[in-house]
Amino acid sequence: KSAVKPVWCPGCGDHSVLVAFQRAMAELALPPEQVAVVSGIGCSSRIPSYTSCYGFHGVHGRALAVASGLKVARPDLTVVVASGDGDGFSIGGNHFLHACRRNLDLTYIVMDNRIYGMTKGQPSPTTESDWDTAIAPGGTGLSPFHPLVIALASGANFIARGFTGDVGGCAKLIVDAVRTPGFSFVQILSPCVTFRSDQQKAWKSLVREAIVPETDDPARAARRLMTDDGFNLGVLYRGKRLPYQPRPSANLTPSHFESEFAI
Ligand code: SF4
Repeated sequence: KSAVKPVWCPGCGDHSVLVAFQRAMAELALPPEQVAVVSGIGCSSRIPSYTSCYGFHGVHGRALAVASGLKVARPDLTVVVASGDGDGFSIGGNHFLHACRRNLDLTYIVMDNRIYGMTKGQPSPTTESDWDTAIAPGGTGLSPFHPLVIALASGANFIARGFTGDVGGCAKLIVDAVRTPGFSFVQILSPCVTFRSDQQKAWKSLVREAIVPETDDPARAARRLMTDDGFNLGVLYRGKRLPYQPRPSANLTPSHFESEFAI
């Protein structure tokens, strides 16, 4: 925990994610200097400042790109990436696909409140199609993005969902995600109390432990996730893919570059 006081609105779900993260790091007995927290832009992306780990509060949607480079350069570090549904699935959507496909050993936590909170309440990729606001009268009419299905189809090795109403459960998922090799994706339902005051209470009554227990069978997980209503909590898929190891660049010596790019 850092000395910086969070500026999130009182009651924002992101406070609980921070507590869950701290509990998870304590459980994993990871000293701050062995952990890097990388984020993009948005309310959720403020989280690196509130930890005493290495932190990088980066560019909108690019957290996974930065984190991938960091992990390749410093494989000894535990790299945790934090994002929100707008930052991670819209601006950073392409990076999300390829981070899953690469399967580097990263833990990706997305605080999903189905809205752009920092910019005052625009619909995000996960917003319900009929969510009616002044900014989108009658709703967007667009089907919400389903990040867990996309993660599975793109090759993520670990897929889970938590809810900030259960901090202990979120901490457990983060521990599990860090311990599982490869790309681990944890969606945390994190209500925005300021622009979506409907969420906190409604989600409390909707969330449940996943009906079908964890599986390592992608076909079974795909069938389950295709009918998932967005409120099943827990580990939903844990695959057996080994993390990507960058190949030794035997042919890419300094002399190679000198001859390739000599003017
Ligand atoms: Fe949290 Fe919403 Fe406030 Fe942002 S605007 S800090 S998401 S409650």
